[in-house]
Formats: sequence, C-alpha cells, structure tokens
Amino acid sequence: MFQTSPISQRVAHVEESATLAIDAKAKALKASGIDVIGFGAGEPDFPTPEFIVEAAVKAARDPKNHKYTPAIGLIELREAISAKTSRDSKLEVSPNQIIVTNGGKHAIFNTIMTLVDEGDEVLIPSPFWTTYPELVKLAGGIPIKIPTSYEMGYKVTPQIIETYFTNRTKMFIHVSPSNPTGVLYSREETRELGEFLLGKGIWVMTDEIYEHLTYDGHTSTSLLEVVPDLRENTVIVNGVAKTYAMTGWRIGWMISPKEVHRAASNLQSQMTSNISNVSQRAAQAALEADLSSVTAMRNAFDRRRKTMVSMLSEIHGFRTLVPEGAFYVFPEVSGVFGREIAGKTINSSMDLTEVILDQAKVAVVPGEAFGSPGHLRLSYALSDESLVEGLQRIQKLLGS
Ligand code: PMP
Repeated sequence: MFQTSPISQRVAHVEESATLAIDAKAKALKASGIDVIGFGAGEPDFPTPEFIVEAAVKAARDPKNHKYTPAIGLIELREAISAKTSRDSKLEVSPNQIIVTNGGKHAIFNTIMTLVDEGDEVLIPSPFWTTYPELVKLAGGIPIKIPTSYEMGYKVTPQIIETYFTNRTKMFIHVSPSNPTGVLYSREETRELGEFLLGKGIWVMTDEIYEHLTYDGHTSTSLLEVVPDLRENTVIVNGVAKTYAMTGWRIGWMISPKEVHRAASNLQSQMTSNISNVSQRAAQAALEADLSSVTAMRNAFDRRRKTMVSMLSEIHGFRTLVPEGAFYVFPEVSGVFGREIAGKTINSSMDLTEVILDQAKVAVVPGEAFGSPGHLRLSYALSDESLVEGLQRIQKLLGS
C-alpha cells in the first residue's frame, strides 16, 4: 500500500473542467431518459461541413497518411495556416513558426509549459476560460486573476492591469472574443493593450479561437495586426474547432518566435509526436476554402444570440450584457440571491445552477467555474427550438 497519495502534487492541484463536467452530467441525464436541455457545452451543434469530411475520407484512404509525420505538423497544413493568418490577421508568419497541436487547448498547454517557470505570475483577466489558470498551476506558475464586472463591460484596461504587475510577472493572457463573456475588444482597445504590453516586456499569449464569430458588424482584431512590434514576445493560439464546427477533430496551432518554437517543438516531439494526419488533412481543406460555410453558421448563431439576450433580459434579477462575439451569454444573476425557489434559498450562482437543473431540467454553467461568482454562462450553440424551450423553462422557474 502507498503511505501517501500516489497522485503527484503537480496533477493533484488541477481541477476538473467544470464545463465538461456539467455537459457530461446533462448528457448522462439525457441518456437515462430525462429531457434535459444543455446550455453547457462550448461547441457548435452543426455537423462539420461536407467538403471537410470528404477531404478526411480521401486522406484516410491514402497510405502516406498512415505513417508518422513531422511532430510539428504537415507542411501543407502549416502553409495553409500561414496563408490564413495573412488573410485574417494581416500578419506574415513562416510555416516554420507554426506547430500543429491537438486542439487549441494543447497549443495553450505547450505555450504555458514552454514559457512559465515555478513561481512565475501569469495575469489572467477574470472571468476567464477555466483551462488557463489550471495549466498555469500545472506549470508551477501562479495565476493572477484580474477581476472585471458587468459595469466594466468585463474588460481590462492598461491602467487596471498595471496595478497587478510585480517583478515575477511573466505573461499576460488575452482572448477576444472571450469565453465566457462573448466580449470583444475594439481595434482601438486592442492597440492600447498591445502598446502597453510592449512597454512591459513580458510574454503575451493571445487566443484567437473565436476570431470569426463576431456580430452586429463588429470584427475581431489580432493583437499583432495593430502592434506588430509585439511579435517577438507573443504566442498566438488558434484552431479550427469553433470556426468550422470541428471540435472533435482536435486540430489547433501555435505561432511563436523562433526560440519558443524550437523549445515547444522539442516538447511536442516527446509528448505527442504528430497529431492525427487525417484530422490535419481535414483542417487543411477547411483553411484552404473561403469562409462561406462559416458565414452560414455565424448567421444562425447571431439569430440565437438575439433571442437568448432578449429572453434572459426578461428574467427578474438578471442583468445581461449583449455579447459581440463567440457563442456565450453571461448574465449577472445576483439579483436573484436571497430568493426562495422550489423550497431552496438561492445564495450563489452555484445554488442557482443546481435548482435550474433539478427543477427545470436545464444545464447552465455557474460563474464560479470562470472565477466570477454571481453569473451564469449559457452557450447558444444549440438548435433554435431547444434554445427557446430551455429559456422558457428558466423563465417559468424564476419568473419574468
Ligand atoms: N480557447 C478558448 C477560449 C476556448 O473556449 C476553447 C474551447 N472551449 C479553446 C481555446 C480550445 O478549443 P479546442 O481545444 O477545442 O481547439
């Protein structure tokens, strides 16, 4: 028998992904015959566009894809990523700066593992995507959360970030559009942020996974497009999951300066070797095409976003900022606290999540999971009918 826990200290401190856990709970209830509507998962409900699937089928039949390929990714895919980065971010990057990873999540893992040392502080605006602080902890670093609020539009400014700097600050994490808030930094805000970070001489990881999901005529701005001088200090992470409804194919990438690229390539060569060739060929087909399939999906998301915002705004005690990107709405719900619902006094967004699941059979994610208690996250990446039905159930339970 072990005298102490067999689990390493490093891994023992990593928390389960709350969003995946809630999604799994909702799916399990559904499988047991209960009619649950899930607003939990961050994944498009559309199938992957047919031409992408076809490219994968063709690739599966080609024996050259049955073998090991370079750990950093197929050159054809890295060329497609380079061309796409030029098209979308007006940024010229060499395929030799790109590593193809097992989804955007793995690109974030590689980046943090490569740059963060024991005791290094990483600045993370809050609410944040749950994975960032957990991976910082795994690397031995210290996540420094910068709180924002409804009143601040859930955005940080240079003045606010400045107050969190210490001599251990190593990295700042930027994501726009954001998960969980759907907040988008304007071009001017992005420029101000980039210029400020340039002056600080720290590392920046910028997560561009939702770049194409923007609404109301807004577009996303890549940090390096407006502050190109930051390129020697910046790692871009991105992937095909959200843009092309390809969450299950697991293709992402990181774009980094030479030295970081070399170190992260070594890490990847020991950890995963190449990512599945069939998925890489599918991603290549996606990136080489125009964005017409994305436009169709974005229009559907936009319609659902408007319905969701308007129905959430009708609920007593909810304050809902209109998100400009991604596919999440993040209502502030503390107005409900203190109320008794179905015999239970609601004192936190966690309580509210439980009562909504138990009574209305609707799964939402509590703000606690994103470092912002007092909120709920609802994804609108589900069918129009389920979305309306789910929101009606919540309205009925909470009163509108
Ligand atoms: N970044 C953000 C902000 C995300 O929300 C996600 C997915 N939830 C990812 C990265 C990673 O996506 P994937 O690993 O599926 O490519």
